Amino acid sequence: MSKSIKVVRGMHDIVPQQSPTWQHLEGCVRQVVQGYGYDEIRMPIVEKTALFVRTIGEVTDIVTKEMYTFEDRNGDSLTLRPEGTASCVRAGIENGLLYNQIQRLWYSGPMFRHERPQKGRYRQFHQTGVEVYGLGGPDIDAELIMMTARLWKLLGLERLELQINTLGAPVARAAHREKLIEYLEQHRDVLDEESVLRLEKNPLRILDSKNLAMQAMIEGAPQLLDYLDEESSQHFDSLKALLDGAGIEYRVNPRLVRGLDYYQKTVFEWVTTDLGAQGTVCAGGRYDGLVEKLGGKATPAIGFAMGMERLVALIEDRGLAVPGLAPHAYLVLVGDSAVAQGLLLAEQLRNALPRLRLRTHCGGGSFKNQMKKADKSGAQRVLILGEDEIAQQQVTVKHLRDGPPQASLSVDALVEYLKEQLLSH
Ligand code: ATP
Ligand code: MG
Repeated sequence: MSKSIKVVRGMHDIVPQQSPTWQHLEGCVRQVVQGYGYDEIRMPIVEKTALFVRTIGEVTDIVTKEMYTFEDRNGDSLTLRPEGTASCVRAGIENGLLYNQIQRLWYSGPMFRHERPQKGRYRQFHQTGVEVYGLGGPDIDAELIMMTARLWKLLGLERLELQINTLGAPVARAAHREKLIEYLEQHRDVLDEESVLRLEKNPLRILDSKNLAMQAMIEGAPQLLDYLDEESSQHFDSLKALLDGAGIEYRVNPRLVRGLDYYQKTVFEWVTTDLGAQGTVCAGGRYDGLVEKLGGKATPAIGFAMGMERLVALIEDRGLAVPGLAPHAYLVLVGDSAVAQGLLLAEQLRNALPRLRLRTHCGGGSFKNQMKKADKSGAQRVLILGEDEIAQQQVTVKHLRDGPPQASLSVDALVEYLKEQLLSH
């Protein structure tokens, strides 16, 4: 026997038992984004490597060590997308969607990062992202947060904490950065190896460190909030007022920075303590400079991305109800003549009842064996077509879980029965 080939480390199949949760989550996401009038955009999974280097930032974790980069046959350097924002901006500029326009967009799909796999951290994972272009005020920041809050409510995910912060305008960040580097230099002895590397290139990220030995030093570091420019400060105050008005609770976390370079002003994360260390289920922020940096006209922009695996894990951990996708009915076919008639009967039922989930038995086998398969399918009803039924132009219907007693029905009566019993809600 030859050795089996296994899935790539850090990548996962989503098997049929998990699909109902995924479909439920995706359905709720769709309902919410559409409820706010957002349009879907779909970008390729592969982009030119330069796109991510230029947008995410040369010294970020993603670009320095997490990208799946390979050479195309013509020598181009290509990368499996590690996130969606860069592609979305590229696509927006390239398709003329951003010039003097407002766009409210969303997308969903797999992302790839070569990280150390652990719970909630994978090498292929899925994000749903929302990006808005052409709106610079705090009203849209608030709308995005309200949108996510509505989604949690729809999913029944209570107890998520909203953390917000502002990174200020680039000038304010620069002034703070200078002071911060000065401070960190003075405390070089407590910095871990990674932080020493980040010291010059991305000092803000050091404040985000989870290293307990550095916490006291981090507590005393100069805070960006103290260096804020007037405009960013007002923007942040207005956002807070809008959230207060909407009854959305939040915590200002002055140390909230994002792992990507392009953010300024508002940043936010939705966090849970229920998933262990990987507690951020949704993260976003404003990136007003990015469109211009990629060759477009200066355009304000804000967006967020949700980690779908983490949301699925939360839904599962909390045992939230998810609509089942098992067939409503399983059609058992007894005897050779029943096969062709059965396939036609199934088509007739599907024609009459477009929402019906009907699985037809294929592959023959004894009645007992077919009944076992019907039960295993999770169906509510079994429909039986055998010689007697064919002779009488009827179908036998039986419940498999609970329901009315066995009955023999004409096709028309069966349609009514299924509609009433299984499709009325
Ligand atoms: P983290 O701090 O957890 O590494 P990040 O700042 O790298 O997150 P973003 O790039 O902002 O994350 O991605 C948005 C969301 O996508 C995260 O909040 C998380 O829910 C999810 N996510 C990010 N990386 C992974 C991964 N490797 N596996 C699963 N989900 C992920
Ligand atoms: Mg990360």
